[in-house]
Amino acid sequence: MSLRFTHETLPQRVVFGPAADHLAAEVARFGERPVVFGGAAPDLLPGAPRHRDVIMHVPVEAAARARAFAAANDADVLVSIGGGSSTGLAKAVALTSGLPIVAVPTTYAGSEATNVWGLTENGRKTTGADDRVLPRTIVYDAELTLSLPVGLSVASGLNALAHCVDSMWAPRADPINQALAVEGVRALSGGLPAIVRKPGDLQGRELTLYGAHLAAVAFASAGSGLHHKICHVLGGMFNLPHAQTHAVVLPYVMELNAPGIPDRLADAFGPGGLARLRAEVDAPRALRDHGFREGDIPAAAAAILAVVPAGNPVPVTTDNLTDLLRRAWAGEEPR
Ligand code: NAD
Repeated sequence: MSLRFTHETLPQRVVFGPAADHLAAEVARFGERPVVFGGAAPDLLPGAPRHRDVIMHVPVEAAARARAFAAANDADVLVSIGGGSSTGLAKAVALTSGLPIVAVPTTYAGSEATNVWGLTENGRKTTGADDRVLPRTIVYDAELTLSLPVGLSVASGLNALAHCVDSMWAPRADPINQALAVEGVRALSGGLPAIVRKPGDLQGRELTLYGAHLAAVAFASAGSGLHHKICHVLGGMFNLPHAQTHAVVLPYVMELNAPGIPDRLADAFGPGGLARLRAEVDAPRALRDHGFREGDIPAAAAAILAVVPAGNPVPVTTDNLTDLLRRAWAGEEPR
């Protein structure tokens, strides 16, 4: 790659450590009247009003209720505690109010490190980028992820891994976001098997959370590559589950884009590569197990073909896309 590029780094404070020790002080940097967005997470800011009405993909009606809740409590800082859905709800409030967000993630989705918001209306999801929704501070406390079941941890962690891999050929890929992505792969390839071996152990959780952060920073900077375009179409047209779809599709995109995989990314996976990792964590294997039907392949291929990012390392055609989708549908052994 030529060393001529323009890279933008998003301004954010990142704290790794127990939320019980750090959160109150981080919130106090921005305001005195926090409101909390989060469903099941522990009460980390006693006394702060809490909005529990969190729905995946942020329906516009849920966003309106959250905005009314923040206004009714005269909030001057928004605190999200939970997965990507809780972060997404706080982002919807920040988008119209400009209030700062302090994010405490409890999954590996990574929304806390991006300036991307999403809203769903009449079943259609709209996304956009706006710096007002970028959380000002993230507090990463691995202890809070201990309650995330192993299956969800694996799917969520493989979703983070896909952020790293797609950063290699995404539209704004550059040597800086690629370096973050490679280190993200290294951390996730070590952390995820450790979670599966010892789900109650903090070490694997910490490593995975660190990897998930790097993955999200890389992705926010590099943009959506072929993998994310495929998963976005599959999720939107056929209502397939977010994290599992990413987990199944990733090896087939790597197969197609093999000529674009730099040696340092392959090295970061360690011996056995992605195949070894997928076997160790018993990754989701076939789209047909998650609601995708063989008869949907032609429509999916046509929709994906229309949004293939420029600069993908391999030309994408109806034929190779159809083959990719058929193999992912069946769960055939990736090459
Ligand atoms: P989620 O937030 O919906 O959480 C999944 C489930 O896990 C929920 O039932 C939740 O209550 C539960 N959960 C969360 N943390 C837990 C914990 N520690 N212990 C036990 N249960 C826990 O799912 P997600 O995968 O984190 O986020 C998905 C959403 O985030 C999607 O809407 C996706 O589009 C969005 N997202 C946005 C961005 C972005 O940059 N804007 C990035 C990634 C994901």
